[in-house]
Amino acid sequence: MSQSYTLIKSGLVIDGTGAEPFQADVLVQDKQIVAVGTDAASHASSDASITEIDASGCRVLPGMIDSHCHISFDHPNSNDELFFHRRYGLAALVAGVNAQKVLRAGFTSFFDADCVFDVGVDLRDAIEGGVIEGPRMTTGGNVLINCVGGTAARLLPDEGTRGYARIVHTPDDIVKEIHKQIKMGVDWIKVHVSGMPIRPTKDGGEISTWTLDELKLVCDTAHQFGIPVVGHCRNASSTRDAALAGFDMILHATYMDDEALQVVIDRKVPLVPTFTFQANLADFGAAIGSDANLREVFRAEITESVGTLRAALDAGVPLLTGSESGFSLTPYGDWHYRELQVFVEDLGMTPLQAINSATEQGARALKLEGELGCIKPGYLADILIFDGEPESVITQLGEQHRFKTIMKEGRIVDTSTPLPRDWQLPGWRVSEYSERVLTRELVESMGLTP
Ligand SMILES: [Zn+2]
Repeated sequence: MSQSYTLIKSGLVIDGTGAEPFQADVLVQDKQIVAVGTDAASHASSDASITEIDASGCRVLPGMIDSHCHISFDHPNSNDELFFHRRYGLAALVAGVNAQKVLRAGFTSFFDADCVFDVGVDLRDAIEGGVIEGPRMTTGGNVLINCVGGTAARLLPDEGTRGYARIVHTPDDIVKEIHKQIKMGVDWIKVHVSGMPIRPTKDGGEISTWTLDELKLVCDTAHQFGIPVVGHCRNASSTRDAALAGFDMILHATYMDDEALQVVIDRKVPLVPTFTFQANLADFGAAIGSDANLREVFRAEITESVGTLRAALDAGVPLLTGSESGFSLTPYGDWHYRELQVFVEDLGMTPLQAINSATEQGARALKLEGELGCIKPGYLADILIFDGEPESVITQLGEQHRFKTIMKEGRIVDTSTPLPRDWQLPGWRVSEYSERVLTRELVESMGLTP
């Protein structure tokens, strides 16, 4: 039987390594890229059937990777909604649709560090098993947290599970929960290393809520099974301790001091700054009624952290792009590209460097280094045919009409069947009695008689 190939012809290849674009054809067989070059077709066997795709005038680049995406949340506008209004089965069904929005935005892979219930593992298996179309994913289970951690303050119970959070206090709790998650099939263990204090400290911002010994225990327990550990760290000491303990990746890593930066550099711990949420709130928050002070605070997290993150990058630390999609500020499909924009505009990367962060570097979050994220022979055939010049104008990557073809593992993704944009589900969103309080003063101001 003759073998079948796909030949993507005459495009300008952005290979994901940060190299300048070059003219080449790309030959794909089954799930893999088998040849890249002007003579790529000659690598097919002589009796092969070759399907050609004309990419002339287009860029050919690797499918992008979102290394921080919460696929099971369905963009809640509050922790109350996320913690008290989600149901397991429905969350999984909705996540299946939302995953397709991610894919159609040109992101053929993503990493979901923590999920409500065990949705992440089930969704990953449904996609891998061919039940539904979606991006390739790696996933954590519930985030390990103690009851003073996180960003939800008193909404966290003293014990048990709430939303995406699993409360652990003792070494026994920690080991048992990690064993349970590994048995379930997680790809990563996530720890909420820093959290908002109930009563703000004079420095403001998050505090570390774990000891170094506890973090080392997490790493020892997970690494025994070859499972990597990722931390949410939004201050200097949590970032330092996570790096010291042997964490394999750090989300945020904002507000690093010299000591934290040095440990991260010494250990070359991959970082996922995840500025999209902050940038969206700072730049567009007014449109959705966000408080002006809050907008300042979030902008400051970017401006106060880009210096150390840039220093980390210059010292050889991998930076990955993560959008924190899954909240009302970051709905699925719309903002995954924006982290690349922030990397260019605020971190001073070139667009090709930012694309490298979203492709070759992102493969680390998918645990597929050297197999995913580049247009090179032997790599998985996740390929975008893109009508634009992202090497000059990075924001074009947010314009979906420019994606002429999205290929995942050698198969062309259906982008024409419409997806539902929004849905009405009983009890799913937090319902409000009203937007304002009905005072007598308000009634009188309307010219009405109370
Ligand atoms: Zn997150």
